[in-house]
Amino acid sequence: QYVAACTPRAPPTAAHRLRGSAVNSTPPAARRPGTGPFGRLAEQDAVRRRAGLRRELRPREADSALLDLAGNDYLGLTRHPDVTRAGAEACLRWGAGSTGSRLVTGTTALHAELEAELADFTGAEAALVFASGYAANLAAVTALSGAGSLLVSDAANHASLIDGCRLSRAAVEVVPHADPDAVRKVLAGHDGPALVVSDSVFSVDGDAAPLPRLAAACREYGAGLLVDDAHGLGVLGDGGRGAPHAAGLAGAPDVVCTATLSKSLGAQGGVVLGPAAVIEHLVNAARTFIFDTGLAPAAAGAALAALRVLRREPERAERARAVARDFHQRLSAAGLDTTRPDACVVSVRAPSPEDAVAWAARCREEGLAVGCFRPPSVPDGVSRLRLTARGDLTAAEVGRAVEVIVRTAPRR
Ligand code: PMP
Repeated sequence: QYVAACTPRAPPTAAHRLRGSAVNSTPPAARRPGTGPFGRLAEQDAVRRRAGLRRELRPREADSALLDLAGNDYLGLTRHPDVTRAGAEACLRWGAGSTGSRLVTGTTALHAELEAELADFTGAEAALVFASGYAANLAAVTALSGAGSLLVSDAANHASLIDGCRLSRAAVEVVPHADPDAVRKVLAGHDGPALVVSDSVFSVDGDAAPLPRLAAACREYGAGLLVDDAHGLGVLGDGGRGAPHAAGLAGAPDVVCTATLSKSLGAQGGVVLGPAAVIEHLVNAARTFIFDTGLAPAAAGAALAALRVLRREPERAERARAVARDFHQRLSAAGLDTTRPDACVVSVRAPSPEDAVAWAARCREEGLAVGCFRPPSVPDGVSRLRLTARGDLTAAEVGRAVEVIVRTAPRR
């Protein structure tokens, strides 16, 4: 049977072609543009195109001369020689893929080592790595809630937390952004298990959640707190140990943290950090852990090497934060509406979505890649440029970036 399965397929015969042509016997009406099951997609695309809001894929050049303020490589580690070498060595030793789900063949010694070091670094009891931060968030939200429980979610949370809430069978209450009193009010009106879910640093405006006050609200009502530290790990806290560590919540029995390995650690993947009992539960209950192929060895090896660089050079975290503060101060001084960054995300308001798109394009023409957030990515209709402060930027690069952003700003 195996041999049969591997026999190369014969070229199509006349009979095959005849059968194939039956597929094309779709009623002519369904083949007219704008009709058929996907016909409305073309209309939606035309609307986006007319509004200048069509998203397009633009392959990045490996050796681009663009100054990159759009990616999330906060510490400049994605091309660090230790990190790339460790990724390549892991690939050569373990293979290009992890070959299966973590519970079958997808766990290597490298995964276990990475989990132990991530837990030790952040002060958590245990850790579990995933193929992405998105998968880690889906796992944590869905496995720590369920029918009869309540999820309390900040209105500005990342899409992966929102999707976790949607997938869970729990009741979901979306509360106003960064508002512990609103959280308290919702918890007071609920009888039963509850989990409060918040980003530590919000992806759009780069502001930090009031974690100590959120934790206090949770403790008052016996709720759990789930913090997505995607933008905090490697940047906030002592030597980049993350926002929960900075808030004195590391190792707390009622706090679970998630993070990505793809931003400050320059690799790819996600992690859930928390009490050992929670991690054990995720291994047994989280669908994105059980049914997803394990994190690729190259990504695990690279993330582990990046973590070791950060431990050796903790000043990288402080330098990244200083660059963010510098951007904010200089752009604000030039009269641009710039949010005060609590980590590395700096957001600069644009008058309209069209202005934001055109502004980002002008920056690109001047050799500067910046992020551009506009509806539907931002629900409030306030469009922005989104800048990433990187700890490896030189003073000259920061100066050049500020000069270009100010010079190309919309004139209104
Ligand atoms: N949470 C936040 C706050 C994020 O910004 C991101 C990445 N954009 C994720 C989760 C998802 O992480 P990953 O890219 O590793 O899937």
